Amino acid sequence: MNNDTGLGMTSDRTRLRMVERLREQGIRDEEVLLALNKVPRHLFVDEALASRAYELVSLPIGYGQTISHPFMVARLCEHIMGDVQLDRVLEIGSGCGYQAAVLSHIANEVISIDRNVQLLSSARIRLKKMGYRRVRFRHADGWQGLSDKAPFSAIIVTAAAPEVPDALFGQLTNGGSLVLPIGVDSQKLIKFTRSGDSFTEKTLEGVKFVPLLHGLA
Ligand code: SAH
Repeated sequence: MNNDTGLGMTSDRTRLRMVERLREQGIRDEEVLLALNKVPRHLFVDEALASRAYELVSLPIGYGQTISHPFMVARLCEHIMGDVQLDRVLEIGSGCGYQAAVLSHIANEVISIDRNVQLLSSARIRLKKMGYRRVRFRHADGWQGLSDKAPFSAIIVTAAAPEVPDALFGQLTNGGSLVLPIGVDSQKLIKFTRSGDSFTEKTLEGVKFVPLLHGLA
């Protein structure tokens, strides 16, 4: 067993099984499936939970937050694929950095922001150690987006807000898309696509995310 891979040889096989289950459950985009197959999810959770890392579940990462469900990570990727070439992508809600790592396999550049400085700095250290050079992290409040790095070809939010943070619309490239969960008790994934100065809105599936909070922590 090798410390870098934690679970050694078996994790490659268990990860592939996870990807096959995602395919069975309806994830169709081969590039997305390949991206999930490349990211060692067991290195994004506590060692005590590493043996469950390839189950189709979200798992606790501390501070009342979770690593997203692999199906949701894949779905968010699918929803931003195909419209435009993914150049710079903004993720709001880094958590442990898993979704950011997956995104870096389908986009040229990923900027991921989180309000929680502790989660953010451990995600930054983790991804650096793993050699993810296309991902950058910033301590920032998602309600404001990240205007100094805009525009983005896609913005995804991995925490649910009661309403869409207005600042995000102006930070999309023409043709770019914003995908985010909206709602409190019952949440729906919504996708906005920019066309010049107007936006088309599409309601996607029902989802369950932790809340998008206010201010930095
Ligand atoms: N994307 C993660 C899961 C994120 S969990 C993954 O790959 O598994 C949601 C994250 O959103 C938490 O880390 C939380 O700190 C962060 N968050 C909540 N409100 C926020 C806000 N207003 N701005 C930025 N991050 C926020």
